[in-house]
Amino acid sequence: MHFSPLMIIASAIAGSAAHVTLQPSSKHDENDLITGLDWNDTSPALVERNFLARCGLGFGKCSDDGCCSTAGYCGKTKAHCRSPDCQIDYGHCDAHMTPDGPPTSGIPRPKVGKVPYGPKVVRSCVGAGNIALTFDDGPNKYTEDLLDLLDKYDAKVTFFITGNNNAKGPIDTPGMPWASMIERMYQSGHQIASHTWSHQDLSKITPEQRRIQILWNEVALRNILGGFPTYMRPPYSSCTEKSGCLKDMGNLGYHVILYDIDTEDYRHDSSSAIQGSKDIFDKNLARAKASHKSWLVIAHDVHEQTVYNLTEHMVKKASKDGYNIVTVGECLDDPEENWYRMDESSELTILRKTKPLATANRVISHDGRCGGNVTCRGSKFGSCCGKNNYCGNSPKHCGFGCQPNAGHCQKARHTSTVHKHGPEKRPATSDAGSLLPPGLSVVELVLFAALASSAGDLLRLLVFALIHESLG
Ligand SMILES: [Zn+2]
Repeated sequence: MHFSPLMIIASAIAGSAAHVTLQPSSKHDENDLITGLDWNDTSPALVERNFLARCGLGFGKCSDDGCCSTAGYCGKTKAHCRSPDCQIDYGHCDAHMTPDGPPTSGIPRPKVGKVPYGPKVVRSCVGAGNIALTFDDGPNKYTEDLLDLLDKYDAKVTFFITGNNNAKGPIDTPGMPWASMIERMYQSGHQIASHTWSHQDLSKITPEQRRIQILWNEVALRNILGGFPTYMRPPYSSCTEKSGCLKDMGNLGYHVILYDIDTEDYRHDSSSAIQGSKDIFDKNLARAKASHKSWLVIAHDVHEQTVYNLTEHMVKKASKDGYNIVTVGECLDDPEENWYRMDESSELTILRKTKPLATANRVISHDGRCGGNVTCRGSKFGSCCGKNNYCGNSPKHCGFGCQPNAGHCQKARHTSTVHKHGPEKRPATSDAGSLLPPGLSVVELVLFAALASSAGDLLRLLVFALIHESLG
């Protein structure tokens, strides 16, 4: 890890994030070790102004929208405001940035499949011969290279995505690379799971803050993918029964996923130290044979050595020992349609920020391929364009990952549930000034027309409502 002089000064004054978190704790605070971003825009003026302002327990909140650093100093630099270090109860933090778009809280969360949901915890895969590599805390600046590496070996893994940590900004921010990386993950066949909005310790915050940590990440992921995951991993592996966290995760419809191999890559992020993580991986694999065991492995794509060194070792070693590299869902024998919840209103309301929906110059597919300006609508191969850019009519083509700008897409998997419990949708009236209610019979229309010529709008509506009621 390299710090510029400005970064060091900013960190020292902040109190700081970097100073405190460079010491790895015994509790997987992997995320804290990362800077990964350019801090050169730190404003010396802001740093100076807030130099002496204290905050936190015993001091209270920062004034003037200041952020409260880990060590209890107010300021507005990235070192003060970045999550998860910034103290969310004592000032402004990156964690308070709200993703755009409607809330996901009303989306039904049926617990389908045989994989346990919270309050139960999943620590291991089922069956034998599989290894689920998982990467937490990203995306970040190395993630694109990791995706290239995984493509090279055709290895499918699981990404536990954090919505806004390490000062990267919300993952759905236009102009930032995160959304397209997440889309690429999904299109490549990797599994997308949640690692919360801003990487807070879920056992140490209030139930409402916990909900926000889950729901805001859902909104941001829904903005990118049209749906959100049913799999999550709590930051720092911290989600206790006592705090109510595990129960809350269950109520929100999540599988709580831990691991049975911890590579401890956050402790070994240097070219000389990373051998320690390789040794951990190898020693664990030596404990059993591929014919008898599967493994669930934790690593972090925010670490340089993990991306450029450890991962290739793990992929090669797994293959040499006879394992398949699979996603967590596959390792748990859970069908892909259970890994996500679709937002059924997404066709109307979702801001798909990475790919604006172009409508001009559409060409109907003539060979079954689709995407870009080639649509499946009107093609003989089926009307939906699936995530792998082929037309078809199956749930694989029309369900999650379906490309709405290149054909028809099925609405949510749980459409019937939504309609059963939710308010019935009525067609919108085309004229905002119209008093004509929708769904009228011919008799009603005639009566309405007759009344319209002789009475004021209010009276007309009143009388009409009575007639409509009496006609059933
Ligand atoms: Zn983490």
